[in-house]
Amino acid sequence: MKFATTAPGIEYFTREQVELMIRMARNARDRFLIVLMRATGMRIGETLGMRRADAHFLADSHQLGCHAGGPHVHVHRRRDNANSALAKSRKSRTIPVTTDVAGYYRDYEWEREAVQEAADSDMVFVNLFRAPLGRAMSYPNAKQLFDRLAKWAQIVARPHMLRHTAANEWIRAGVPRDVVQKLLGTSGPGRSSPTCAPLTASGAKPSNVIRQVPDDGGWRPCSRGCCAVRRRLGGLAEVAW
Ligand SMILES: [Zn+2]
Repeated sequence: MKFATTAPGIEYFTREQVELMIRMARNARDRFLIVLMRATGMRIGETLGMRRADAHFLADSHQLGCHAGGPHVHVHRRRDNANSALAKSRKSRTIPVTTDVAGYYRDYEWEREAVQEAADSDMVFVNLFRAPLGRAMSYPNAKQLFDRLAKWAQIVARPHMLRHTAANEWIRAGVPRDVVQKLLGTSGPGRSSPTCAPLTASGAKPSNVIRQVPDDGGWRPCSRGCCAVRRRLGGLAEVAW
């Protein structure tokens, strides 16, 4: 994936388009899906493969056996997802999120609690409105959501555009390129070198600059076995939100 200024077909959403899609989404699950992908730049496969134990939205996750600071999500590569979703990156990574993402997740959890069939699933995104209830949300289902939004909002809307949007905004905010690559889970010199054009000429101030992203060097499984999340042995990442 490249974000070259001159490359054709690089599509991302404007801030207004994202807000419009959130407003037009019919339920809290779909709103959270949009907000999460926009905030993390996760691939759709990674998003649909996310487990509830991967969402650490409290300011402090020590109780969960995780030493990463602030609200964040973990992206792990798994092969046993019921919806066949698979994180493309081989390395796990941690992505910080803002507190408003946690707010959307809380709304979704309320909605989800009303569906008994969803209670036993450890997947984050599950069917709540059509059979089989509680089953992991499929890619075609997610694609339909974006097709609907595109039609209603009269815009081009594909899930992967949220990944481009996140990358674009990080770069505009002054996040170093190598950190953006780590956040996106891309690796290898030359494989991905984000060089986005600014979305607008407004020149947004780099108020939420991520200085260093936690990598997974030195992680081990949670010693208490209470969650799928790993405990970090080394120093904490410096993440300035
Ligand atoms: Zn964590």
